[in-house]
Amino acid sequence: MEPIVTRFPPSPTGFLHIGGARTALFNWLYARKTHGKFVLRIEDTDEARSTKESVDAILESLVWLGIDFDDGPYFQTQRYDIYNEYIEKLVQSGHAYYCSCTPDEVNEMREAAKAAGKKPMYNGKCRELGLNKADNTVVRLKTPDTGVTVVEDIVKGDTAFQNNEVDDFIIQRSDGSAMYNLAVVIDDMTMGINTIIRGDDHLINTPKQMMIYQALGADMPAFAHVPMVLGSDKSRLSKRHGAMSVSEYKHMGYLPDAMLNYLVRLGWSHGDQEFFERQELIEKFDLEHLGRSASMFDMDKLTALNAKHIQAKAPKEIGEHLLFHLKETGVDTENDDYLAEVITTLQPRSKTLKEMAEGAQFYFTDTIEYDEKAAKKFLKPEAADMLEMTLDLIEALDEFSHDQLETAFKTVMDKTGLGFGKIAQPLRVAVTGTTVSPGMFEMLLALGRDKTEGRIRKAIEFIRS
Ligand code: GLU
Repeated sequence: MEPIVTRFPPSPTGFLHIGGARTALFNWLYARKTHGKFVLRIEDTDEARSTKESVDAILESLVWLGIDFDDGPYFQTQRYDIYNEYIEKLVQSGHAYYCSCTPDEVNEMREAAKAAGKKPMYNGKCRELGLNKADNTVVRLKTPDTGVTVVEDIVKGDTAFQNNEVDDFIIQRSDGSAMYNLAVVIDDMTMGINTIIRGDDHLINTPKQMMIYQALGADMPAFAHVPMVLGSDKSRLSKRHGAMSVSEYKHMGYLPDAMLNYLVRLGWSHGDQEFFERQELIEKFDLEHLGRSASMFDMDKLTALNAKHIQAKAPKEIGEHLLFHLKETGVDTENDDYLAEVITTLQPRSKTLKEMAEGAQFYFTDTIEYDEKAAKKFLKPEAADMLEMTLDLIEALDEFSHDQLETAFKTVMDKTGLGFGKIAQPLRVAVTGTTVSPGMFEMLLALGRDKTEGRIRKAIEFIRS
């Protein structure tokens, strides 16, 4: 069997949005799973709305998601000559023709068709006239008058379109530029694309595209049209359901792997499994289990999955992504062993990397600023003696280890008669400035002996001053 070749053809009129990312992902996964090829093509023929910023933003988001391509990016605006070459061929072979009808004439034909209870359409006036190319001529495809064009879709099954409802549509404008459907087919054909997975909003174009393939005598690709992603209220996903742009999710602290995991589940399933690692997705993905009904975007589910991915990953891998968020909060550090320790303490309690970066602040400051309420409640005169006792015991440890710290705490509890919480809270405020933090021992161990002792000393001074 020939290798699978898929593609992602975004129009660069904005950022990479959730729906686009999901389409890219399905195509990428299928190519990776089958050891095929994944092609990136920028559909920038709408030159008024296409921008370089959008191209860059889309590429950047794909890189962040880890969706790499084997071929491209191709730009449709650099391929006009290729389209025209094929349009010429279609005219030569009698599958297309020049038409000189004015827009007004075409409008009248459409009105007349409507009046006769038919679909508004061009009536084929120039079809057999054998006109030559002129300034005002467009090129139209001779479409079949009878029969049906059946889209054999992997997801939707067969959909039949009546050929007499498709008019001889334009494939080249009078200014010589190729129309969208023609460009897409020539691209897919010349790029060797044999599997097209896209949103079902494009299904309407498919019969026309199939007619172009047929006119060219080219092999038909396989089609898989996936249902749209909807918002929680079942209307088409939009800004009011949450962020639309993939890069916003990066900024909000989502892991690319969590994003992939969530996106793939918006339209594909593997039993009732929810959590997938990247490699596992590549192994398990298939077209048979693409769903037929639309899925709803659910931020809470995405966040829950993100938390799971944060917990499942090695600290060093989290670190690669956390650095960005730390930098946003003004912490400039490296993905070193200290950061790995810090991450280990925060993994069980961070739903996003943004949250993790915020929770990590105290590990990186030289001076702890006490939260006013917390200091008032816990850094009270009676806490000073207890903190002093704790400090003495910690200083006397011959090893700064979990076991020895635990023993020191037990000693303080025995001597003061206080419970663990009563000791832990002032200590927590001393060390972090707040009352919420990772577990006491793991936190102190990550922070290290010097910082722990220094911070307790400072808190005692603070209380006594
Ligand atoms: N450029 C189209 C889009 O951005 C995709 C066309 C296709 O997949 O055939 O929606």
